[in-house]
Amino acid sequence: IRVRPLTCTETRRGDRRVVHSLGDGAVHVSATSPPGGRRGLRHPLSCRCPHAQVSAARHDATFGFSAVFDAGASQEAVFEGSGMRQLVELAIDGFSCTVFAFGQTGSGKTYTLMGPLAQSETQPASPALLGLMQRSFTCLLEQSRSRGSDLALSASYLEIYNEQVRDLLSLGPPCALPLRWSKTRGFYVENQLSVDFESLEAIVSLLLQGSQRRRTSAHALNRHSSRSHALLTIHIRSRAGGQSITPPSRVPQASACPSKQGTLCFVDLAGSERVKETGSSGELSVEANSINRSLLALGHCISLLAKPRGKRTHIPYRDSKLTRLLARSLGGSGITLMVACISPSSHCLSETLSTLHYASRARRVTTRP
Ligand code: ADP
Ligand code: MG
Repeated sequence: IRVRPLTCTETRRGDRRVVHSLGDGAVHVSATSPPGGRRGLRHPLSCRCPHAQVSAARHDATFGFSAVFDAGASQEAVFEGSGMRQLVELAIDGFSCTVFAFGQTGSGKTYTLMGPLAQSETQPASPALLGLMQRSFTCLLEQSRSRGSDLALSASYLEIYNEQVRDLLSLGPPCALPLRWSKTRGFYVENQLSVDFESLEAIVSLLLQGSQRRRTSAHALNRHSSRSHALLTIHIRSRAGGQSITPPSRVPQASACPSKQGTLCFVDLAGSERVKETGSSGELSVEANSINRSLLALGHCISLLAKPRGKRTHIPYRDSKLTRLLARSLGGSGITLMVACISPSSHCLSETLSTLHYASRARRVTTRP
């Protein structure tokens, strides 16, 4: 869970902070006041039960998670404390790894993944503010160098806008790509561009290039609100023996050092929101409805996946493009880190509670990597 600081607008409006980290992965949401002076309190979640304990006061609830990052937490603390570094290492080892950022519009999803760079086109963000993505790239390239460059890296970048999949790296106006299914590959996007890279500069420039092409619209909650779900995937091919993978003919006994293929996928979900609150109308409300529809489909899949294995029914991945593309990360053999972003403001109370409930359900999903 990441709680962002109150924004200037929220402070000026006199919003109260209703989200408090209790330490040890517990977070308390209160419409009244923090329970018994916050820290050190023995609350009902000390056993890390994933279900929220809702107290008598209507909106009071305590939730337990693997980690909670309060408003003061640095980008580095989030990278180190969320397990992101381990996820990068697992991807190098050949696993499919995914990081999701989800939460209400304006809750800090893009900030957490990319830092404030998307907001300032003119000057680059200070290194301390770089997000999970750039930190992961650095970590990946360091590992690649230390392994004697036996990793081949490439990236693809897609967005799902109004239920259409579009390539953010292809030149020219974004056109819709077909989403297909095959027995061997599962769901995949046809004709998706994949660009090789070897340096941090190259991948950061791909990220910037793609992000600038994302559909954003200004509305009441966030001046640069992302109106699409964006998926940046890094494909990592490595050879266990440490030999160079090019040219392949020089590698002796290919079977003795099988190549591994891992992926590291960053998903910046468009914000959940109620149309009324964001002042959306016309085209914006069509967008909001398709965003909400795919988030609902995602929530539905997560709820079903969270059931014990024996009780699971059919998982409706086909209900939206988003769930189709994420099928492998959600229920397959992948390892997934979900970062729920929330605002501490009293104004966002009900959205915050629904994000936390969503996150609690997601936490119960287990996959078999
Ligand atoms: P979202 O992507 O969820 O719609 P953003 O990441 O764009 O939201 O964040 C909304 C605003 O809040 C931005 O101006 C961003 O810079 C600011 N913000 C978000 N998280 C933090 C944080 N942890 N520290 C400082 N500012 C933040
Ligand atoms: Mg965003």
